[in-house]
Amino acid sequence: MDDKYDLVELDVERTVGIKVTFADNYSAEIDLMTLRLICPCAMCRSLREKGKAAWPQSEGSQKLSIRDAQFHGSWGVNITWSDGHNTGIYTFQFLRENAESHLNSGLDRP
Ligand SMILES: [Zn+2]
Repeated sequence: MDDKYDLVELDVERTVGIKVTFADNYSAEIDLMTLRLICPCAMCRSLREKGKAAWPQSEGSQKLSIRDAQFHGSWGVNITWSDGHNTGIYTFQFLRENAESHLNSGLDRP
């Protein structure tokens, strides 16, 4: 596997987000909300296709946090959210690409 897409370290800050470190020493933080909004599962994908946000899914949803995050095989990360949602598997490549694009777009933020 390309070092760039080889996740070697995953730090979970349950109420903040995750920090990912790759084999080429690139590391980045991805915040909770970004992570949830890019959830790659079929359900969230179809919500996005309809122009709806993947979060919140209902009125009065509890505050978003990560309940658990586990490596899924050697290629992905499975995150369980505070509302029980856990069908998204974030591949290392997906996390890397999002970390990079998020950092770039972050430059425009106030
Ligand atoms: Zn999802």
